Amino acid sequence: MTDTVRHDWTRAEIRAIHDSPLLDLVYRAATMHRQHHDAREMQVCKLISIKTGACPKCGISGSSVEVRNYYQVWSFIVMTKWTTRSHIRCPSCGRKANLGSMVFCAAFGWWGFPWGLVMTPAQILSNLTEMFKRRDSETPSDELLQAARIRLSAERAGRVSG
Ligand SMILES: [Zn+2]
Repeated sequence: MTDTVRHDWTRAEIRAIHDSPLLDLVYRAATMHRQHHDAREMQVCKLISIKTGACPKCGISGSSVEVRNYYQVWSFIVMTKWTTRSHIRCPSCGRKANLGSMVFCAAFGWWGFPWGLVMTPAQILSNLTEMFKRRDSETPSDELLQAARIRLSAERAGRVSG
């Protein structure tokens, strides 16, 4: 197979490609693609672009998204439940979500004994720490790269099966 771009295809050649088995076509397309694109390089670009890509919450691009954790707790008499969730967010959406989580903790955290009284200040403090955590605005964190890899492979799996 030649790796130059051709514009002089004959009808017979096109007919031969059209009539060739599907797997042959897939193989030829993949080979051709690899001659012109480094498959690994493309993935690295995509991983880096997630840092400057759109925030999944507000959709604004170039706002240096990161993986952020949110800490919540609610209690009722003897029952207390506390959770940590993480999402990819831009700094603005991240701060809003941490603030929302603190309000949630302050409203619903205290009403259980003894863990409500222990976990409510702890979770509020964790949200505060997360809000003011220093983040590198240029390089994606390991958590973000990991999240991006999971998303990439999910996308790829979706494309194959769908
Ligand atoms: Zn956002």
